[in-house]
Formats: sequence, structure tokens, C-alpha cells
Amino acid sequence: DAKANGRGRWSFFDSSMQEQVLAKDKLSRELRKAIDRDELSLAYQPQTDSSGKTIVAVEALARWNHPELGPISPVTFIPLAEETGLINDLGLWVLNQACYNAYRWPDLVVSVNVSPTQFKHPRFVETILETLDHHKLPPSRLEIEVTESVFAGQDKPILNALKRLKDLGVKVALDDFGSGYSSLSFLRKFPFDTLKVDRNFLSAMDDDEGAKAILATIINLGQALGMTVVAEGVETAEQIAFLTSLGCHRMQGFYIARPLDACKLEEFLADVSYSAGMPDPATSQRS
Ligand code: C2E
Ligand code: MG
Ligand code: MG
Ligand code: MG
Repeated sequence: DAKANGRGRWSFFDSSMQEQVLAKDKLSRELRKAIDRDELSLAYQPQTDSSGKTIVAVEALARWNHPELGPISPVTFIPLAEETGLINDLGLWVLNQACYNAYRWPDLVVSVNVSPTQFKHPRFVETILETLDHHKLPPSRLEIEVTESVFAGQDKPILNALKRLKDLGVKVALDDFGSGYSSLSFLRKFPFDTLKVDRNFLSAMDDDEGAKAILATIINLGQALGMTVVAEGVETAEQIAFLTSLGCHRMQGFYIARPLDACKLEEFLADVSYSAGMPDPATSQRS
């Protein structure tokens, strides 16, 4: 991916490296300012229940619209924020904004991506609680998405933080499952509430029976372990039909909706073809 390519080029010292350092340095200073200057925003991507018709959750996705450079992808600025230590401030802004908006959508779970650095912060769990409290949001309305990379290095403090959140009623999701070096042992390491299956399986299923079989198996596995299974990257009606036939609890992707700003999301929720409110069966069983 783009990140890996970008990193690979750092191994040789040349003038383009120097340019990249300067560009990166400039961009990180810009990002610092962006947090204070209101250039960041959140887009919310709806998730349906297994019927494909009812919106039960939204994933909050960070957006940066730079006044001169235009929109900059989170694939660029999130890793940059991680490297430069801005991720804690950025993450706090995201959390606050998501909880602020979530208050207006009482029937929806709001899912927020959290980076490993945020998790390692000693006051991470307290910050989450304070934010929920500030916005009068019940913990069960918030879902935290982490990727396997959160477990790199010492995982005892991470596991403790995850357990505390879960005990408090915040939902914890494993994001991008099946991408990279996923192993099944991650599913045993921590009792995640939610399993988000990486979109690679879905995009491959159209012309690959093997990918289809793996997808079905992962969904069954998540269900058997009592997790809410979410399929990411739904782009076709055929994919929806397949996921519905497997009883996949939640679905997210461009076929349902692109990530939308808060106003557009509210318009979308008012649309007659999608209704909001019915909790998905996996969630209501366990709460
Ligand atoms: P993610 O958490 O896996 O989010 C899903 C990404 O897939 C989003 O990209 C979304 O726009 C995209 N997507 C959704 N449906 C489809 C589809 O049907 N087809 C395709 N091709 N793509 C789809 P986005 O918004 O560019 O975000 C990229 C990544 O940046 C996220 O991946 C997440 O890892 C990171 N990210 C975004 N916002 C935040 C944030 O607030 N905090 C942190 N720590 N990371 C964030
Ligand atoms: Mg995510
Ligand atoms: Mg994902
Ligand atoms: Mg991802």
C-alpha cells in the first residue's frame, strides 16, 4: 500500500528524501494548525442490520480539507499524526465530535477508530468516560474500533484498557480482520464485541469461490464466538444478498452509502427506503 511504498523509499539518502522530509515536516505543522482551525471534520458512514434496510450504526471517519491542498486522505494524515505525536489531540477531537453528534442520533451506535498510541495513553479510558459523561451519552452507544496493530509490543496494559472499556459497556470492535497478518489467535486474545471483516474478502468474492468460502467461514466463526459481525466494503447488490443469506449482522459500504457529513446523514436517515432505530439481533440479545 501507499504507506509501505512511502516508507520503503527512506532507505536511500537522496535529494528527494530531503524534499520528502521537508514536505512531511510542513504537513505536520499544517495538521497541528488544522486541529485548532476547524479544518477537520467527521464523515459518518451508515451501517445496516442484516436486512440491508435498517441503519443501526455509523462509523465516524476523519476528514481534512486543507485550504490550499484540498482534501487530504486519512490514509496520509493519520499515520503522520501517529509519527508526530499529534494523534492524541486529533483523537480527542474526533471522540468529542463523534459523541457530540451521536447525541442527536439516539437509535444509532457510533463507531470511532482509535489508534494504538491513543490506547497507550495512561488516561485513555478516563478520557473516554469523561467525554461520554460530558455529552450525556450512554457507553453502549459508543463503539471503539482497533486493529491488530494495537497489540504490537507489550499487550497487558492494552488488554486491561480494553477490558475496562468493555466492563463499562463501551463496545469494542476488531477492525480490518483478515487483512495483513491476521491470525485467529487475535480472536481469542480478547473477547471483542464486534468483528469487522476486511473488505478484501468481499471485493474478491465476485470472481473467486475461495474468497467467498473464507468470507462465509469468518462470518460463521464470529457468530459462533458471540460477536456482532460487520462486513466492510459492500459495493454490490449481490454482495448484500450473500451477506444477508449468511446472517451477517451489520453491513457497511458504498452500495449502502458513502461516508456522509452530519447533515447529509440526517437526510439519508429520513429517506423512506432506510429506517433507523431497530437494534440488530446480536446486540439486543446481549444487552
Ligand atoms: P477503516 O477504519 O477501515 O475505515 C473504512 C474505510 O473504507 C474508509 O476509508 C471508508 O471510506 C472506506 N470504505 C467504506 N466503504 C467502502 C467501499 O464500499 N469500498 C471501498 N473501496 N472503500 C470503502 P477512509 O475514510 O479513507 O479511512 C481510511 C482509514 O483511515 C480508516 O480505515 C482508518 O483506519 C483511518 N481513519 C479514518 N478516520 C480515523 C480516525 O478518526 N482515527 C484513526 N485512528 N483512524 C482513522
Ligand atoms: Mg474502522
Ligand atoms: Mg476497517
Ligand atoms: Mg482500514
